[in-house]
Amino acid sequence: MSKYIGAHVSASGGICNAILNAEAIGANAFALFTRNQRSWVSKPLDAEEIAAFRKLLVERGFEPRYVLPHDSYLINLGSPDEETFQKSRAAFLDEMQRAEQLGLQLLNFHPGSHLKKISEEECLDQIAREINLALDKTQGVTAVIENTAGQGSNLGYRFEHLARLIEGVNDKSRVGVCIDTCHTIAAGYDISTEMGYNFCFEEFERIVGFKYLRAIHLNDSMKATGSHVDRHASLGNGTIGKPFFSWFMNDPRFDDMPIILETPDPTLWKDEIAWLRSLQR
Ligand SMILES: [Zn+2]
Ligand SMILES: [Zn+2]
Repeated sequence: MSKYIGAHVSASGGICNAILNAEAIGANAFALFTRNQRSWVSKPLDAEEIAAFRKLLVERGFEPRYVLPHDSYLINLGSPDEETFQKSRAAFLDEMQRAEQLGLQLLNFHPGSHLKKISEEECLDQIAREINLALDKTQGVTAVIENTAGQGSNLGYRFEHLARLIEGVNDKSRVGVCIDTCHTIAAGYDISTEMGYNFCFEEFERIVGFKYLRAIHLNDSMKATGSHVDRHASLGNGTIGKPFFSWFMNDPRFDDMPIILETPDPTLWKDEIAWLRSLQR
């Protein structure tokens, strides 16, 4: 199998439940939060929970490299506000360490926002410095930067932003990117047409490089190309439309990495995954 597909499943009641939830939808990859994503403080994972997670993962046939933890929404490594910045630095390191403890290899996060108080360049350079700091204190986990819709003052909506961040990271073997397809179209890359699809990923190769691509968030979008509004839609029910998913599923550039649905209706995930698989020629 060349495509590893799953969804951002619930870890409510304990992180082991994420594995069971992924299995129930026929996934061979998944994403999860390893701490409360809306709180700054979270109690450490205990040794028993860590051991149980590692064991169950293997038992249910998942490979650690297809598991993509997502960090807390509160973290802003680019924050110009000292208090938020300090909290973000601590929480980001904690997220990286949790991934490390769980034997996982990736941590997916949004770059950050300048809140119109510092320039885009200053903000990107600050984020790159923080990635370096967290990489220095951990081992074996790659920092996976997600592209964004460019809502508000969020950076990461241009491939050039991702390239500048990678440029600022010392250990290139432990930095990568995640392309969210909803964010991509909302940011202005029209992937709904075959010409637009080809153009977008040629640009990606030229500016960032597929060698840095570590993961995909596969979503349709409720909003139009260039809207800069981040609203996910179920596959085929948005402005990206069905043909895209067929090109995507038959494109080997997206093989061998976690492909994660963050579509709004979890009751459809099982069918969405089966439909994606049916598109493979
Ligand atoms: Zn995200
Ligand atoms: Zn996403």
